[in-house]
Amino acid sequence: MGTINPIAEIIEMAHKKGAAVLVDGAQSCSHIKPDLQALDVDFYVTSAHKMCGPTGVGMLFGKEEWLNKLPPYQGGGEMIAEVTFAKTTYAGLPHKFEAGTPNIAGGIAFGAAIDYLNSIGFNEIDAHEHELLKYATEQLTTIEGLKIYGTGVDKTSVISFNIEGIHPYDIGTIVDKLGIAVRTGHHCAQPIMDYYKIPGTVRASFAFYNTKEEVDTLVKAVKKAKKMLT
Ligand SMILES: *Cc1c(COP(=O)(O)O)cnc(C)c1O
Repeated sequence: MGTINPIAEIIEMAHKKGAAVLVDGAQSCSHIKPDLQALDVDFYVTSAHKMCGPTGVGMLFGKEEWLNKLPPYQGGGEMIAEVTFAKTTYAGLPHKFEAGTPNIAGGIAFGAAIDYLNSIGFNEIDAHEHELLKYATEQLTTIEGLKIYGTGVDKTSVISFNIEGIHPYDIGTIVDKLGIAVRTGHHCAQPIMDYYKIPGTVRASFAFYNTKEEVDTLVKAVKKAKKMLT
């Protein structure tokens, strides 16, 4: 739905109750640059391939006090400090969690992808994506029977929608044939689909490299799909 949740407040409330907080930033990281110190979050994860990086590599941030408390999840080379028959002591951070030969090339490529996004600048990315979001929202809402899910004021550049009486897969297939890639289905969020009593949505996501012309193509394709399917 693109809703930007008030995670700073949520983290503060959780901490007051003594809970640790892990934020999954896989969706937000290519749009919003998080300030992990200011958020005071205990753990933060993201995935490289959502940030123009390679697949199979991601990032776990954890507060040192937490990471020191946690046991290794995997054994292998480079994660041991000392081994005797009596006991094993693990290497310090981060080696304790990096058993064996890591995905070195993936890590380097992930770093390059982050540098690339930073070189464009998150303020510029945000400004461009919000312009596309506003434009696409205006254009799509002119289509009768089209409903957007996720209309919070504070949202990122995704539009989830359905057209009354049409299955999202059908719209997705026609839009795809016309050259626009959207995602269809429940988006790993089945409970919210149940809440709205829908089988899924069509979701268009805008990134910094998308253009207004592509939004026009999307809108035209959705109109065509509606005409073909009703
Ligand atoms: C993509 C995604 C994941 C999974 O990341 P992979 O690296 O593809 O396994 C987890 N959480 C969210 C919110 C995601 O968008």
